[in-house]
Amino acid sequence: MKTDRKKIVISEFMDTQAVDSLKRHFDVCADPSLVDEPERLRDALADADALIVRNRTQVTAALLDGAPRVKVVGRLGVGLDNIAFGACKDRGVQVFPATGANARAVAEYVIATSLMLLRGAYLHSAAVAQGQWPRAALSNGREAAGGTMAVIGFGGIGQLVAQLACGIGMRVAGYDPQVPADAACWQETGAQGMSFDDALRAADVVTVHVPLVESTRNLLGAAQLAMLKPHAVVINTSRGGVVDESALACALKQGRLGGAALDVFADEPLKAGSPLAGAPNLILTPHIAGLTVQSNERVGTLVASRVMHALLEGEHDSTNTRELRHGTDIIR
Ligand code: NAD
Repeated sequence: MKTDRKKIVISEFMDTQAVDSLKRHFDVCADPSLVDEPERLRDALADADALIVRNRTQVTAALLDGAPRVKVVGRLGVGLDNIAFGACKDRGVQVFPATGANARAVAEYVIATSLMLLRGAYLHSAAVAQGQWPRAALSNGREAAGGTMAVIGFGGIGQLVAQLACGIGMRVAGYDPQVPADAACWQETGAQGMSFDDALRAADVVTVHVPLVESTRNLLGAAQLAMLKPHAVVINTSRGGVVDESALACALKQGRLGGAALDVFADEPLKAGSPLAGAPNLILTPHIAGLTVQSNERVGTLVASRVMHALLEGEHDSTNTRELRHGTDIIR
């Protein structure tokens, strides 16, 4: 039965406390299976006022056409590649990402995988448990301290990675064409801004934190990988397609690269038969760098408050909505 309360559809997993906070004010249809059932999703959206998604629900023009009342989309994450931004703009739909709320989870993933790959000793537990004792083979790992981390893309996550890397004694070489040489963030994080090529040549670890757009597709391709030191490790938590997976697999298999950690892939889930299969010193994770108990809570709380504010603002401009108004990155 339709009440006069506004309706929010949540089509993927959202932290339960955040969902409960929305239920106090709105009719909430929270069903993580909706993302895989397009007809049920369309039905649920027919009379909805807001939609909250992660990265799998494709918010297309066609989906919005079937949801004429939806004026607010919450994104439980940062990248907006699953949201047809132009279509939202044309229809006056505001989009609220969870900017910053999962940055620490990603940054810790980068530091953890950097240390693992540089040391090269932690992926041999099965051999040790079976009675092998590969001490000589595992005695030549590297320390991170004193090495250089190239941070490609110096936005929110890149800057936090730089701070953590400095904290373990690394030098940080940052590259971001949109951050001026005199920007405060270089000094604040302890990083040194430099050209893309210089950062790659200096790197013991390269980590990328850019959006996937035409200019960043295959940003790390065969030519760029060939510029790295042979012991360097590459980490991609940004978006699949930014690192050329075939070129990376080839470099690892030929011993031209020390290791890699990939959390994101050009085609997700990664398909069997990928060139990455069998590459040495490679850590693969299923797009979870930004997901932790704490970040799920932060992301859910932030998106819930932004969606709530936008819906309540539509009704009245009261003081209790004003306290929720802290989003500086609302995309209209
Ligand atoms: P951000 O917008 O704060 O920063 C991105 C930076 O990239 C900007 O400063 C921009 O100037 C820079 N940039 C753009 N083109 C560039 C280029 N060609 N070379 C170098 N720099 C370039 O974004 P963010 O919050 O730091 O997120 C970075 C990436 O991480 C995004 O792709 C996002 O989708 C992804 N991400 C992944 C996960 C995960 O779970 N794996 C979680 C959160 C974010």
